Amino acid sequence: MTLQVLSQVSLKPFNSFGIDVRAQLFAEAHSDDDVREALAYSAAHALPLLVIGGGSNLLLTQDIPALVLRMATQGIRVVHDDGTQVVVEAQAGEAWHPFVLWTLEQGFCGLENLSLIPGTVGAAPMQNIGAYGVEIKDVFAGLTALDRHTGELREFSLEECNFGYRDSLFKHETGRWLILRVRFTLSRTSHLKLDYGPVQQRLAGQGITEATPRDVSRAICSIRREKLPDPAELGNAGSFFKNPLVSQVLAAELQALYPDLVAYPQPDGQMKLAAGWLIDKAGWKGFRDGDAGVHKLQALVLVNYGGATGHDIANLAQRIQRDIAERFKVDLEMEPNQY
Ligand code: FAD
Ligand code: NAP
Repeated sequence: MTLQVLSQVSLKPFNSFGIDVRAQLFAEAHSDDDVREALAYSAAHALPLLVIGGGSNLLLTQDIPALVLRMATQGIRVVHDDGTQVVVEAQAGEAWHPFVLWTLEQGFCGLENLSLIPGTVGAAPMQNIGAYGVEIKDVFAGLTALDRHTGELREFSLEECNFGYRDSLFKHETGRWLILRVRFTLSRTSHLKLDYGPVQQRLAGQGITEATPRDVSRAICSIRREKLPDPAELGNAGSFFKNPLVSQVLAAELQALYPDLVAYPQPDGQMKLAAGWLIDKAGWKGFRDGDAGVHKLQALVLVNYGGATGHDIANLAQRIQRDIAERFKVDLEMEPNQY
């Protein structure tokens, strides 16, 4: 047995909100064998297994009566290369942003807009991570997961993952699929997506007219460092709510009341509202109750000033949800995974 199982471990260093709850048992998986051992251990001790990566999309509201398994498997390899396109496979425990930087160093294009997202490769498919107009579904080549019900390996194609806006099959079949490795189709020629205004403005401000993927990555990193709190300094889980999709009728009603409403038409005819704009408009930006608060620069990010519990954050989130529903008739859905 190589798996080191520890008892009563504080999860404070393992969640980006910095919430201090305990795992009944805790272990790190460095190989597929470790993962299988952890499953056998949890079954033998009749304890559930909770898989985590970087803990950057978690809201922990209680001590966790489970074996918490942190994915720490490492390894990146090119599994296909036809001279134009490559397929790169990374193990679940690889940290996302260093993986993106590695692909850019190899001259592979496709992940640059997803620079500086915290977390691991294995968690990226959970909510089809996205930023600046790109989601992993745009470059997804497949993944290998362990079916925790049967113990068998299963390959998933793009279609089988049911990726949606911050959504996937894995988010709905909670606890069934343990993602072991993920593959991405990347290109040796650049096809940049520069639709988001701030990226264009940052590149223009730097005097860059013919941007490379690495320029785009650097521009996005600099924007993100200015706008988002660093979890190492101020606990947070990034955007706390998803941007709501509403009917054109409601969007038009709101636009009549608030001419500066931020809304983007979607291919299916719905309108995507900027949740951060709604929360800001309702006056919550910079709000603080004890150690739970709304970030001063980005109203979509709830923060832990140090001693907040998961319940403090959840209570604040519920107050905001009620207020937004009353003011704008819009329901905000929480993005992080609550345990
Ligand atoms: P965790 O938080 O550890 O886990 C998240 C969920 O995935 C849990 O339910 C967990 O059980 C499950 N899980 C983890 N690993 C596995 C696995 N191998 N197999 C099966 N299930 C697993 N998200 C975006 O989409 N876009 C952004 O731009 C973005 N920016 C962020 C900025 C900041 C400052 C922060 C703190 C967060 C941001 N996020 C963003 C959210 C978060 O970084 C992503 O959702 C990320 O993919 C979470 O990865 P993780 O390894 O930390 O997952
Ligand atoms: P922003 O640029 O201030 O824009 C506000 C919102 O408007 C964004 O949420 C974005 O939606 C939407 N938007 C802006 N330009 C758009 C366009 N051209 N087309 C369609 N939608 C547009 O956003 P931000 O908060 O600084 O974040 C920048 C990017 O990083 C966003 O893509 C955001 O999703 C991502 N991000 C995500 C997290 C997270 O935890 N999930 C945290 C930080 C940043 P989308 O969110 O749909 O892109």
